[in-house]
Amino acid sequence: GATIGILGGGQLGRMLSVAASRLGLKTHIFEPGANPPAGQVADAVTTAGYEDEAALKAFAASVDVITYEFENIPTAALDILESLRPVRPGREALRVSQDRITEKDFLTGLGLKTAPYAAVDDKVSLDDALQSVGTPGILKTRRFGYDGKGQSRIMAPEDADKALADMAGAPSVLEGFVNFSHEVSVIGARSADGQVACFDPGENVHRNGILHTTTIPARLNISQRTESVILAGQILNALDYVGVMGVELFVTPEGLIVNEIAPRVHNSGHWTQQGCTVDQFEQHIRAVAGWPLGDGSRYADVVMENLIGDDVDRIPQITMEPCSSIHLYGKAEAKPGRKMGHVNRVVK
Ligand code: ATP
Ligand code: MG
Ligand code: MG
Repeated sequence: GATIGILGGGQLGRMLSVAASRLGLKTHIFEPGANPPAGQVADAVTTAGYEDEAALKAFAASVDVITYEFENIPTAALDILESLRPVRPGREALRVSQDRITEKDFLTGLGLKTAPYAAVDDKVSLDDALQSVGTPGILKTRRFGYDGKGQSRIMAPEDADKALADMAGAPSVLEGFVNFSHEVSVIGARSADGQVACFDPGENVHRNGILHTTTIPARLNISQRTESVILAGQILNALDYVGVMGVELFVTPEGLIVNEIAPRVHNSGHWTQQGCTVDQFEQHIRAVAGWPLGDGSRYADVVMENLIGDDVDRIPQITMEPCSSIHLYGKAEAKPGRKMGHVNRVVK
């Protein structure tokens, strides 16, 4: 069978490897850090940095197609990889999603709604941004933020100096605070020949900036549900995307507002492991391997709970619960804020 190269060896790479293995495919992980969770289940691991040209070339030569579990792949590394093997999802998806402003420009260019936003680089541009966007708002670094890191809230203009200091000089964006009733996400997929399929939207609750639970089905009326998958399909098609994408949405009385997109399998799609015959990981592997998409229709309602830090101490109790499926990532140390695993509780 073919070999899938995966950039990044975290839990997403691990679950992609398991899915690939089930389809008779091999995986090769490229990861700078030692002892990656995915390394425990993949067929091969390269431990090297993205500046190591020789390692990148050898990795690419050993695989048939390259995908990734995180979006911050350096451009120079991508140039090398792309010259040797197809990288899926493609370049455009990475270019758009690596920077919050590029991403919002792209989304608004498609006619989709985002929070009001303005670029911030210094005190002067922050003052301008506060004029155009207003308060309350959230100042976020344009690049590299995840799990709510690199964000500072500006509830009133007097919080501005502290927020700017929190960015530590990184190029940033001020977003107007969206007064949402709840948050949902759509996990969409697009195959190499352009077929699109979306999983049912899930409802997400965050705690301390980190996803806590995803509940399926989300509270959406029929037209919101339809709109959410149509807009996900619009994004996938516009990027000529191949693979699975997460689209995070705010639900408001004025309609659905796109928070951000992630060009990869997504934490809020983990419920599909117990809720669907074909889960997001298999769907992604199918797409990047050039297979047709699978039937991801939902046959059960699920509540996914992330196990973060010492939440894993509850595993002994969770093992006793009926209808719950435990997924642990094989990480040695339970640090605060670290995603250690998740539980999928099947509701019916
Ligand atoms: P992820 O781990 O999902 O990549 P992230 O660090 O990129 O997270 P965001 O998704 O931008 O962060 O924000 C995290 C959470 O903070 C959101 O899910 C939402 O609850 C809240 N939030 C972010 N931006 C806004 C906004 N403009 N208005 C209101 N709430 C917001
Ligand atoms: Mg994000
Ligand atoms: Mg997010």
